[in-house]
Amino acid sequence: MARYTGPVCRLCRRERTKLFLKGPKCMSAKCPITIGRFPPGEHGRDRQRQPSEYSQQLREKQKARRTYGVLGKQFSRTYRVAAKQQGLTGERLLQLLELRLDNVVYRAGIAASRAQARQLVKHGHLLVDGKRVDIPSFTVKSGSTVALKQSSRELAIIEFNREVVNHEVPAWLERIEGGAGVRVLNPPLREQIDTDVREQLIVELYSK
Ligand code: SF4
Repeated sequence: MARYTGPVCRLCRRERTKLFLKGPKCMSAKCPITIGRFPPGEHGRDRQRQPSEYSQQLREKQKARRTYGVLGKQFSRTYRVAAKQQGLTGERLLQLLELRLDNVVYRAGIAASRAQARQLVKHGHLLVDGKRVDIPSFTVKSGSTVALKQSSRELAIIEFNREVVNHEVPAWLERIEGGAGVRVLNPPLREQIDTDVREQLIVELYSK
């Protein structure tokens, strides 16, 4: 399965905002956005012009795509699914992205970043309703539980995340089994999603 393997802080610098792609480093003083690094490229520090409407729409799409670690084709597919469902397309798009298994694992505090969550899922450490699922894009349904396999609970990386990362679980998730997993209570409402993205601009971009 294809994935981005280049430098991730560069993506945040391009979007001029924190996308939280690196776990604990994102909260530290070493984060290039905190330091105030310029966007990448030869003309990075010159890019202060008023962006066009299209440019703003494209940047919002890229921001969402990079935040959730989704490549272009898969993002477009998710958008098409959201557009067919009832409700606001932008909100449904964010809900579908939030309900991806790798994102739920990250939100549950099991992994320090979505990239790490994706790896844990692909290596078969996660159970959905008691069954092993190793597909990061798997959509978790309301009422389902996501938990670590018993044999994976003592992994060094899991212990580290439990002690150091210690995410606060969002209101649409509920902790189960002493913190080894979560239950999805309902699809997240827009106000429960802290992703800094203007989804309406993404809808406008795809509506052209
Ligand atoms: Fe790098 Fe994280 Fe800062 Fe983004 S938020 S620039 S991934 S340290």
